[in-house]
Amino acid sequence: MIKINENYLKLQSSYLFSDIAKRVSAFQNANPGKTIIRLGIGDVTRALPEACVTAFHKAVDEMSADSTFRGYGPEQGYDFLREKIAEHDFRAFGADISGDEIFVSDGAKCDTGNIQELFSGDIAIALPDPVYPVYLDTNVMAGRTGLFADGRYQGLTYLESTRENGFVPTLPQTPVDLIYLCFPNNPTGAVISREALKTWVDYAKAHRALILFDAAYEAFIRDEKIPRSIYEIEGAREVAIEFRSFSKTAGFTGTRCAYTVVPKNCMAYDSTGKAHALHALWNRRQTTKFNSVSYPVQRAAEAVYSEEGKVQVRSLIDYYMKNAALIREKIAGLGYAFAGGEHSPYIWVDTQQDSWEFFDRLLNQAGVVTTPGVGFGKCGQGFIRISAFNTHENVENAMARIESALKGE
Ligand code: PLP
Repeated sequence: MIKINENYLKLQSSYLFSDIAKRVSAFQNANPGKTIIRLGIGDVTRALPEACVTAFHKAVDEMSADSTFRGYGPEQGYDFLREKIAEHDFRAFGADISGDEIFVSDGAKCDTGNIQELFSGDIAIALPDPVYPVYLDTNVMAGRTGLFADGRYQGLTYLESTRENGFVPTLPQTPVDLIYLCFPNNPTGAVISREALKTWVDYAKAHRALILFDAAYEAFIRDEKIPRSIYEIEGAREVAIEFRSFSKTAGFTGTRCAYTVVPKNCMAYDSTGKAHALHALWNRRQTTKFNSVSYPVQRAAEAVYSEEGKVQVRSLIDYYMKNAALIREKIAGLGYAFAGGEHSPYIWVDTQQDSWEFFDRLLNQAGVVTTPGVGFGKCGQGFIRISAFNTHENVENAMARIESALKGE
């Protein structure tokens, strides 16, 4: 008899986006003439930068002639891309990372989900609340949690991100082995200071723990004082793996390209306490189960680092950040406390009300879709996430509608 992995039965169905979709379609049916503006989903809306498109086309042309055609590429990604990443994203910021420590992939979602395969089933895990759900659900699937009770899985340490701690969790009280951190954060939009990040690196060193640092939104950081990479912190190479993505940086959500950094001296331990290099384990995993990203996509990603590419990416990010600034200004004007939107495309609004009730108010009175914070975890109750990924015109209209709906009550 074929048996299932019963850990899958512990998973809570992700009702969040299907619930949102149901409420939106009910509203649309009741108000057929009303245009809905979506500031809920974390997906980009603008075209790929021209430099990427040109490189993409050129690479497709290469694939069309026998003399320039490429078959399977290196599982870790092509050196032309790995070297550019190491130079521009790390060494330029004083982080000592080499090209062969970069593993190119088709998404930070897959990498943050797959990485837990490298670790034992009985490690103690700490992850943020509210959280990007991939970290949580992949550990549930792997059997590292108990059942779901009272809004949380048993056996995990939840790192609470609250108004009181400025949405930057403090060190856990009970020892943990694996720590997920995400900055700039989805969904709160919060960033972490160098000093605070150092406390996590020091903790990991003292406990022989490992930090999984998700920096998918790094490109939105506006202030040089805020670390873009965990490797800007001394000692982090030994205790941290970092995830990055071209998705939000350069509009690759549909094109798919990301990468994971595994420094060669980053270690984990077997049951006898002997150290093993995670670089070798991840390399083994990727060469066994993955064949990297298509050649044209890697050429398109490489173009992000060209002179034109840099300028175009900057203007793409500026475009969304102008939206974020408008959202911040309007939310502040309405008297709500909020976080984010300064170094991230998300604004996390403290509604002082049930998340779903506030979501419904915005949908029904303004025709604007947001994301209820409670969908990201218990600590998200009372918040909504507003995304800056849309056109200026839509964001302006949405905020004007929200303003008049909430003021008019
Ligand atoms: N990490 C975080 C925090 C995200 O919010 C997302 C996407 O929304 C991802 C990773 C996934 O990125 P990718 O498109 O590279 O899979």
